[in-house]
Parts: sequence; structure tokens; C-alpha cells
Amino acid sequence: STPVAIFCALTKAATSGLLLKGGDYLETLSGIKTVAFDKTGTITRGEFTVTDFCAIVDDISIETLLYWVSSIESKSSHPMAASLVEYGMLHSIKQIPENVENFQNFPGEGIYGKIDGRDIYIGNRRIGARAGCERDPVSQVQEERNGYIYCGSTLIGVFSLADTCRSGALEAIEELKSLGVRSVMLTGDSTQAANYVQSQLNHALDDVHAELLPEEKAVIVKNFKNDGLTAMVGDGINDAPALATADIGISMGISGSALAIETGNVILMSNDIRKIPEAIQLARKTTRKLI
Ligand code: ADP
Ligand code: MG
Repeated sequence: STPVAIFCALTKAATSGLLLKGGDYLETLSGIKTVAFDKTGTITRGEFTVTDFCAIVDDISIETLLYWVSSIESKSSHPMAASLVEYGMLHSIKQIPENVENFQNFPGEGIYGKIDGRDIYIGNRRIGARAGCERDPVSQVQEERNGYIYCGSTLIGVFSLADTCRSGALEAIEELKSLGVRSVMLTGDSTQAANYVQSQLNHALDDVHAELLPEEKAVIVKNFKNDGLTAMVGDGINDAPALATADIGISMGISGSALAIETGNVILMSNDIRKIPEAIQLARKTTRKLI
């Protein structure tokens, strides 16, 4: 009784917090060769701590910088935004107002807003090009950070944010390895931030790709597909193209953006990525029964 076996497996998966949007995904899950994980909010908690925040030009004070950044970040729903707003409110003497105009979001890069008549860009090392600065910010400040602040095309500040891995992330990757499944990480964050996560995981990830735009995540997933069935796990708006490209898209249920949840074929209700190797095992058992 094929439909009954599928129904039982779907129910069992749902009970453990994994919603499959169709029975066909069991078949796909059973044959997965590569799982590509997003970093922020998927492998990591997506709860950042500001570890460094400096002004780098003499005529813009740290107070002004904090007030601009927290005002503009208050318009963003990126996981980094909340911690920057909080940091700004704690350390700035100015009130954080709502006078940001023309707010824009550049997925995988950062944000823009006009405040006090200034054009302010905040983001990773790619955001400089949006601001009209051709120079790589890393060459201007020597050390790599994951945040850069521009006023017009001038680099005016830098910051760093650190995030920690979800409990169970290492276990999930090790469990996948024991099932013969490769784990890779795809992130829009800096190489340094990506390497930090890899070291927290005792270098368990088989492959790490950093500084990716949303479309570049999708291209890498496509390449893995040439080598076998590929799942993508993500939570952000920036993960939607890769989720749609993968043989199976898995989205984070609690922290996931509406777009990621809509695009995913499987929803991880608990945000616990250990459910992924569990689901593969369940799918393998179920499809074996069907043959
Ligand atoms: P990930 O792939 O790790 O989920 P994203 O693609 O969402 O990362 O973002 C990539 C990078 O773009 C971030 O690491 C950050 O440096 C920058 N960025 C994106 N949005 C913002 C924002 N609101 N404020 C500051 N930086 C941002
Ligand atoms: Mg993410």
C-alpha cells in the first residue's frame, strides 16, 4: 500500500517538526547527495553581537555614525539590523529618529538611506560599488570586517559582528556525513566570518563559499546538482533563488522570511537542522518499503 506508507512517513515527519509540501519529496530526500546550508540564521542563530565599531574619518564623530547607522538599520529586517540598532541606541547620545528617506535594500549586499541630507550606504565589501567607490574597502582599512559604512562614495566607518552556531549544527553535519551526504555552506557574509563558523564546527563542512550574491548561491547549487541530488537549506529572502534551484528547498520555519517559507518544499518548523538527517533516514526507509 504505497499511499499509506507515504502518508505514514509524512505524518511522522510532521510530528517531528518537518512539513513536506508533497509526498514526492520523500523520494528526493532519500537520494540527496549534497546539502547546501545558508550561514546566517540557518547554521548560526542569526543573533549578532557587535564586536567592533569605528569611525575612520576625522570630521564625522562616532555619535553621528551610530545615530545614522541605527536609524537606517531600524528600517531593515536583516538579522544584523536588530543588533546594530540596539548597539546604536546604547552608545549614541542622540535619540534615534525616524527621518530616514528613500530606504533601499540590496539583498546580499546591504542597505541605503538618506539621513540629514546625506546618502548613507551600509553593508559588506560589495556595497562600496553601490556608493560609487571603486576601491576595495579591505585595502583601505587593512583588516577585513563584515560591515562598511559609506557617506556618498567615502568610506566613513567599519564594524564587525559575530554570530554563534546553533546547538546541534555540528551534530547535523556529522550525521549527514555518516549517511554519505556532503555538507557545504553558502553565505553572503565575508570570508573571515565564514571561516570563523567553519572553525567553530571543527572544519566539518566539506566546502565553504563566501561573499555570494543571492543569484550566485543559486549557480553553486546548480553546479552541485550536476553531481547528484542537492538540497538547499535557508531562511532569508536572499536564499529564495537557491531554494528554488535545488532539487529540494528546505526553509527555516521559525526564523524564516515569508519568501523562503513560500519557496521551500519542506519547512523545518523547529529550526532544528538535526531534523534533516533524520528526514533523510525516514525517507530512505519509506522508499525502500515501496520498492
Ligand atoms: P547570508 O548569506 O549569510 O544569510 P546575506 O546575503 O543576508 O547573508 O547578507 C550578506 C552580507 O550583506 C551580510 O553579511 C552583511 O555584511 C551585508 N548586509 C546585508 N544586509 C545588511 C544590513 N541590513 N546591514 C548591514 N549589512 C548588511
Ligand atoms: Mg540567512
